[in-house]
Amino acid sequence: MSMRIPFNRPSVRGKELKYIKEAVEKGQISCGGEFGRRCEQELSRQHGRRCLLVNSCTAALEISAHLLDIEPGDKVVLPSYTFVSTASAFASRGAQLIFADIRPDTLNLDESQLPGLLDSRVKAVVPVHYAGVSCEMTAIRKTCMDAGVRIIEDNAHGLFARYGDEMLGCMGDMGCLSFHETKNIICGEGGALLLADDGDWHRAKTIRDKGTNRDAFLTGTVDWYSWVDHGSSYGISDILAAFLLAQLEDYQAIMQARGALWQRYAEELSDWASTKGVSLPYVPKDCQQSFHMFYILMPTNESRDRMLAHLKSRGIWAVFHYVPLHSSPMGRRMAAGEPSCPVSEDISRRILRLPFYTDMTREDQDLVVGAIRESA
Ligand SMILES: *Cc1c(COP(=O)(O)O)cnc(C)c1O
Repeated sequence: MSMRIPFNRPSVRGKELKYIKEAVEKGQISCGGEFGRRCEQELSRQHGRRCLLVNSCTAALEISAHLLDIEPGDKVVLPSYTFVSTASAFASRGAQLIFADIRPDTLNLDESQLPGLLDSRVKAVVPVHYAGVSCEMTAIRKTCMDAGVRIIEDNAHGLFARYGDEMLGCMGDMGCLSFHETKNIICGEGGALLLADDGDWHRAKTIRDKGTNRDAFLTGTVDWYSWVDHGSSYGISDILAAFLLAQLEDYQAIMQARGALWQRYAEELSDWASTKGVSLPYVPKDCQQSFHMFYILMPTNESRDRMLAHLKSRGIWAVFHYVPLHSSPMGRRMAAGEPSCPVSEDISRRILRLPFYTDMTREDQDLVVGAIRESA
């Protein structure tokens, strides 16, 4: 069915093809080329952390699981309400998953539950900054510090967002970013790992390069390269890095456009929402969000499904997401204990994400707002 207004549409900023042409002409289009290095430098400068560019956020999460030497018998705490990769990266190394519930306001991991979920086998907590609004990291860090547990941030949504003065992705031991075409800054498929520790950074390069010390060879530190650690093929082609650099150089305009769209949805829908018992996103005062998405929480599962169908009949593609992982077939197999996540279940039944993309026009946004307001 053809839709007048898609849910997402990738935004091309202008220099992408020029940079790709340069990459091709340089004759080095695998991982480790000049554009990849420039992306890493830029992300590293912005975050004040070491950065490794990889081919997805899933890859970044998997590398972080390698770096922690996660093995069967270990446990990892994560929200049930998240994308599969947050869990699969750890489950594929044999970790048992402790599914935490989320807060009903920000839809982020409920930090008040965390102390009760930790035991001596827990190696890591993986907070997900849902919609690019930070988790309550002060409390999460204190709990993890007291228990000696590491923090891996899944920051697929929150590039360049802040918690107080701190950037998301830099508040734990490692932070994972996504440049998938549905995210804010894109290259089709891509990701990055932000690292606090120099040793982790060196080892992460080996893991990215199939467990070889190819990077040390390329930089002249060793005379030949060999198989030295676990690893896989997590590097990104320099063709995609070239695309990504064009986006990173224009990130302020991207953020600004998305911010304006987000504010406009919030303003145009607030009266309607309050008369219909619908909730709009909540952003705590100390959080500067990334404007990754705009969602509404309908009063019931039936009203949500009715709204989806109504919008579809107007050619508008809205979606809902996250079947809570603790109730998925694989999540049930990998879960430690008996997860209880009633908020995740409730939100999953009532959430609706509106079309939201960098190049969305005012006219298209008016159509969405109008269609929502006219619904019964
Ligand atoms: C998109 C997403 C991922 C995976 O990102 P890829 O780059 O597609 O691997 C992981 N976690 C969350 C929360 C996401 O939204």
